[in-house]
Amino acid sequence: MLKTTSLLSRRFLLSSAASAGQDVRQMATASELARQRRSLQGRVAVVTASTDGIGFAMAQRLAVDGAHVVISSRNQKNVDEALAKLKSEGLSVSGMVCHAGVKEDRTRLLEKTAAEFGGFDILISNAAVNPDSGRLMKCTEEVWDKIFDTNVKSSFFLAKEALPHMEKRGKASIIFISSIGGYAPNCAIEFMGAYGLSKTAVLGLTKLMAMELGPRGIRVNCICPGLIETRFGDVITNDKRTPKLMHDNCPLQRNGRPEEMAGLAAFLASDDSSYITGSNIVAAGGLQSGF
Ligand code: NAP
Repeated sequence: MLKTTSLLSRRFLLSSAASAGQDVRQMATASELARQRRSLQGRVAVVTASTDGIGFAMAQRLAVDGAHVVISSRNQKNVDEALAKLKSEGLSVSGMVCHAGVKEDRTRLLEKTAAEFGGFDILISNAAVNPDSGRLMKCTEEVWDKIFDTNVKSSFFLAKEALPHMEKRGKASIIFISSIGGYAPNCAIEFMGAYGLSKTAVLGLTKLMAMELGPRGIRVNCICPGLIETRFGDVITNDKRTPKLMHDNCPLQRNGRPEEMAGLAAFLASDDSSYITGSNIVAAGGLQSGF
């Protein structure tokens, strides 16, 4: 009977049995379910741009949930400091330098991780640049190339190159990081023209990769943060045009915190989201997110 009972009604039955002090075997099953649902135990995760900001919070959370996490960023000192902090919290982490825009760095990150752990299960492509892109019609070819190289091309090729190392593990979850600006590239046009557009491309990348990789058992999803309290976010927050944007359009009337993105990443990395792929999930305090 239990086999055909839905999880919800099973939970109800189990808690009723527990309160009546009746079926210890069923209680054990419930707690085992609870343990499995929360844990990333035994998984290996690679998170780019993860010595600070959103990437750091995501790396920390995946490790808290039981994964071994390989962190990286452009600067060895930042990698060392982030590793020291995470290790002091008792977390299982390692790390190396990887400039996400440099092919050789990406290859080294993936291959070293695969060699050490026999592959990996979770990939978060988090790195992005926004070199004061300004209005789209003022964007130079040089700025365009820099933005699209790091934000779109590098994300795609990082994920593509990771596939052989992830597929064989059986639980592959790829997570891209777009932005609320990807949904509304026309929202902050004065200071984020081409950046917003690059993040729109990431929404499409997620959909198309999910379609092609679903049959191979690989899930591909994307997180679209709103304005988050990080170094990157502070530049936007401190722009005098931003407070009005947030005041007029953000129901929660505040910026988000990096850890508010981390729980979503842990969810998308875990079996809790096993039937979710091709989704661009907005976490932006209610900022408008339709096209
Ligand atoms: P952040 O606070 O500025 O974090 C930067 C981190 O990325 C640092 O660890 C930095 O370390 C590393 N990094 C920067 N460029 C890199 C590169 N090319 N390759 C490798 N590592 C690099 O940024 P964030 O706000 O957390 O943003 C993270 C992601 O969220 C980005 O994709 C961004 O577009 C997206 N996002 C952010 C917001 C926001 O409001 N914060 C909103 C929407 C979307 P090193 O200096 O050592 O390289």
